[in-house]
Amino acid sequence: MNVQISRQLHPVSPAGARALVRIVIVGHVDHGKSTLIGRLLHEVEGLPDGKLDALKAVSARRGMPFEWSFLLDALQTERDQGITIDTSQIWLRTPARDIVLIDAPGHAEFLRNMITGAAQADAAVLLVDATEGVRDQTRRHGYLLHLLGVRQVMVVINKMDRVAFDAGKFREIETEIAAQLAGLGLTPSAIIPISARNGDGVARHTSSTAWYRGPTVLAALDAFVPARPPHDLATRLPVQAVYKFDDRRIIAGRVASGRIRVGDDVLIMPAGKPACIKSIEAWPERETSQTPRVAIAGQSVGITLDRDIFVERGDVVCASTSPAASARRLRARVFWLHQRPLAVGGHITVRIGTAESTAVVAAIEEAVDPGLLASDGAEVIAQNHVGEIELALSRPIAIDPYTADPNTGRIVLEFEGRIAGGGLILTAQAAALDTTSGPRPGKVASTARASRTGVNSDELRAKASALAQVFASLSPAERIAHLRREVAGKIVFTTSFGLEDQVILHLLSERTDDIAVVTLDTGRLFPETYALWAQTERRYGVRIRALHPRHGDLETLVERDGINGFYDSRAARLACCTVRKVEPLERALAGARGWIAGLRAEQSAHRQDMALVTAEAERGLIKLNPLFDWTREELLAFVSSNDLPVNSLHAQGFASIGCAPCTRAIAPDEPERAGRWWWEEESKKECGLHSHRP
Ligand code: SF4
Repeated sequence: MNVQISRQLHPVSPAGARALVRIVIVGHVDHGKSTLIGRLLHEVEGLPDGKLDALKAVSARRGMPFEWSFLLDALQTERDQGITIDTSQIWLRTPARDIVLIDAPGHAEFLRNMITGAAQADAAVLLVDATEGVRDQTRRHGYLLHLLGVRQVMVVINKMDRVAFDAGKFREIETEIAAQLAGLGLTPSAIIPISARNGDGVARHTSSTAWYRGPTVLAALDAFVPARPPHDLATRLPVQAVYKFDDRRIIAGRVASGRIRVGDDVLIMPAGKPACIKSIEAWPERETSQTPRVAIAGQSVGITLDRDIFVERGDVVCASTSPAASARRLRARVFWLHQRPLAVGGHITVRIGTAESTAVVAAIEEAVDPGLLASDGAEVIAQNHVGEIELALSRPIAIDPYTADPNTGRIVLEFEGRIAGGGLILTAQAAALDTTSGPRPGKVASTARASRTGVNSDELRAKASALAQVFASLSPAERIAHLRREVAGKIVFTTSFGLEDQVILHLLSERTDDIAVVTLDTGRLFPETYALWAQTERRYGVRIRALHPRHGDLETLVERDGINGFYDSRAARLACCTVRKVEPLERALAGARGWIAGLRAEQSAHRQDMALVTAEAERGLIKLNPLFDWTREELLAFVSSNDLPVNSLHAQGFASIGCAPCTRAIAPDEPERAGRWWWEEESKKECGLHSHRP
């Protein structure tokens, strides 16, 4: 039996080396699709033994003329009875190659499958009924191929026997369909007159079409250029996870395209960091001489690099000679499934490979009703409709257009926490400026203002704004996780061992994120705070990095203002805070692209003007206050239920605890930060750590 039926979405040729071409057949069911498929199966001897004879005998017994379409009906019946045959994807073996014929039964479902990657076609057969000529539906089918980006098309003019193999009729249809397709940017590889029922023009020419000089259907199928197999494309390894193992950082993922070899130079995109593949790991561990040296597309691997650079889930290890673009904007053709139409300005989550980003819909064009297969001119994409959209991403992502790499050029859209669409990436617009580690390949100049860090301030603000909207409905833990995914590069959490800080550290301890924890040791902290610091390190098994004031600055300060000069004037107090806190903070945040702090709006009137997420343009980072909207009651409840270690001074009436000389206990009716710099005016009581110019 030679009918090979595959339930795999992307069938693999059993012969391995034989070329595989996936061909979609589009055309009205009455135009002879089933007849052509049945005839093709017969011509390549692809039918089960005896099947044809049995069907002919059944037809004869019933007094009916045999029809080739019965074949597909019979196969469908067998499938319904549990035999593993799927007539929506039929495998033909011609002398030259393997062909998967993909039947396109309904536009909506078929478009969805094609666009979301459930099916792929390298080429198409467009079927036209000679008795009807080019009709509206033929035009729609041409439009369908245009939508799907299928560039190789043959046109088959079927039922030529019904028009007496009239060459004039054929030429008329040929001219019209060629013009129609040209309008869609398609040039058919062949336009073939056939009679699928009689076999004329399918596998061989007959005298009926002696006036035709082109290929048969089988010859034209064999002439389609197969898509390049994934291992022949440029190397792409989307990073699924990074594991610390011994002293190694193992980057795990599935090779999507190309091949990974030990010694290959690669670029980690979107940051564009260069590296060299040091090893491909094997489990269980083997002798060095037996470890793999190469892995090809389809294989899951763990690799190590020759240098210690920051790599995270969502990055893509790329061939250094042909990297993916680092893009902040992209254009995609998408199928939308959600009940609520997708509109310009809508916020969605975008997944490309293992990368994820929030995005804003910047433009919608060519919204199409798949039932009509014509643009409806709307600027929204309704449920089950198709359209071209432009997305502004909140962070750069490594992106390939679908035409460059079908394996990585697909996009999944999420809305309200569930998959709401998918599509093909048409173009990627390179990131205007690197927000993580300097210039990247392919970047374009930006007209937006850049800060001293090289970060584009306008883009940073746009990103903070987009994140703020998304974060509003998330829990603190989810906000931190989202920030880690959205911000490529170093993220720093600064703790002063307050209640909020202890909650955040507890949340961080439940994750494996690469987030640095630092504290600013002013040299004037309470002994109780130092005790809590040590207790916290023991509880979570971490070493919290301390930044101290610069010795020279401290000497100058004390010499000028005295050891407690901060009581004398606000200027002296701010100078002390600058030397002991703000300057060390700048060192702690140097090179960071994210900052997590424990601010809550409720703490003071001044802090109510702050925000959950802000862009700190001068520092070139996004700042997240994950507990910003928490009440003190929520805070205390979390501390209690998780038995968190807290400063023993809280039991003595201290609320917000800073440096010992500048902090006192508060009365029950005083606001939380009343005990800090109590001698100063309420509205001015910030130390400068959180007063940075955004
Ligand atoms: Fe100096 Fe007081 Fe500021 Fe601490 S809180 S740095 S002691 S002024």
